[in-house]
Amino acid sequence: MTDRDQLAGFATAVAGKVAPIAAAGDEGRVNRRLIRALADEGLLPGLFPRRAGGTREAGVSAVDLCVVRESLGRASTLAENAIAIQALGAYPIVLAGSDEQAGRFARPVARGEAVAAFALTEPGVGTDAGALELRAETDGKGFRLTGTKVFISNAPDADVYTIFARTTPGAGTKGITAFIVNGDAKGLSGSAQHLLSPHPIGRLELDGVFVSEDRIMGEVDGGFRLAMRTLDLFRPSVGASVVGMAQAALDAAVAHASTRQAFGRPIKEFQAVSHQLAEMATRLEAARALVYAAAEAYDRGDQRVARRSAMAKLFATEIAQQVIDAAIQVHGAVALERGHLLEHLYREVRAPRIYEGTSEIQREIIARDLFRARD
Ligand SMILES: Cc1cc2nc3c(=O)[nH]c(=O)nc-3n(C[C@H](O)[C@H](O)[C@H](O)COP(=O)(O)OP(=O)(O)OC[C@H]3O[C@@H](n4cnc5c(N)ncnc54)[C@H](O)[C@@H]3O)c2cc1C
Repeated sequence: MTDRDQLAGFATAVAGKVAPIAAAGDEGRVNRRLIRALADEGLLPGLFPRRAGGTREAGVSAVDLCVVRESLGRASTLAENAIAIQALGAYPIVLAGSDEQAGRFARPVARGEAVAAFALTEPGVGTDAGALELRAETDGKGFRLTGTKVFISNAPDADVYTIFARTTPGAGTKGITAFIVNGDAKGLSGSAQHLLSPHPIGRLELDGVFVSEDRIMGEVDGGFRLAMRTLDLFRPSVGASVVGMAQAALDAAVAHASTRQAFGRPIKEFQAVSHQLAEMATRLEAARALVYAAAEAYDRGDQRVARRSAMAKLFATEIAQQVIDAAIQVHGAVALERGHLLEHLYREVRAPRIYEGTSEIQREIIARDLFRARD
């Protein structure tokens, strides 16, 4: 058994153990008991380095992050979301924070004692994140943050926010700084947002929130690069999570096609059904291969990783949606009943084509790289 298989088996076993806690949470809100359980079982700290409260020597590899997210995506999307957002929220601190910041803010996140969030998107900017407008104005002792963030996973319930704010007006991507902001900071408020598929997500209003200079991550005006470094690590793993979800859909479709009878035989005996399943399995395997190729490229520091990650995220999220849709077709009406696994996955698989870079922007990254290679 490979290390990858062992990690996948461990993540799947943890998903089984925490399933009742996941199911008992309030839809669309942070489930603290679930996050705590994922930490107590050792899965969450396994994504963090020791200096940030985890169990690894260094930060998580992109491949291991993919293995964990694929396994959880297949077994429990609630557990998958919970662990992924915790890690995304805290990884800017892991990547660029001082030892003091890592110990004080990332450690409780790795141990499931605090909830983290990554706040980049604003009402006026999503894809074009380099144009963000939330202001950070110096007041001699530190900075005052004023503005709005939207669609922030784990908001407004998080305890620790990585907030990207504009420190130099007019400087585009070169005028953004990353700040650590406590969830109970004076001047910070928020509200939940309600999506197609329930997701702990919300809006944040910052009204002159004070942040001292020792809460800056990395360099002043170096925050955009940090946001992109964090997303580079996580992008292939978005593909992995949807590969897991689509695998669950394919498994369900194969099982259903074997038992459901029509015209006196199991429907798998109709070639229209069995070839559909063969097509789903083939596309899914291609998506998985792209995801792990991108993760391996990231881990060995490949120069062309942006293109590979974009291909992996684009292809996996688009294919996963097709596979889940086809799995519903193989089931017929029963898959559309509220509470059916496929009804849940159908709603759940839509957002990954939008977050952490839309499909369109992934094509843009790939296209730019094609022409760069030619020039
Ligand atoms: C479930 C979920 C969780 C999220 N979690 C977080 C989070 O934790 N933190 C956070 O900061 N954000 C989060 N987001 C926000 C997410 O990152 C943004 O929705 C995403 O970046 C897209 O931005 P937008 O929705 O504003 O779309 P827009 O940027 O307004 O795009 C609208 C359309 O225009 C297209 N478009 C834009 N620019 C180009 C271009 N150059 N070329 C071609 N097409 C283009 C887009 O592809 C899209 O089709 C989350 C979103 C969702 C749905």
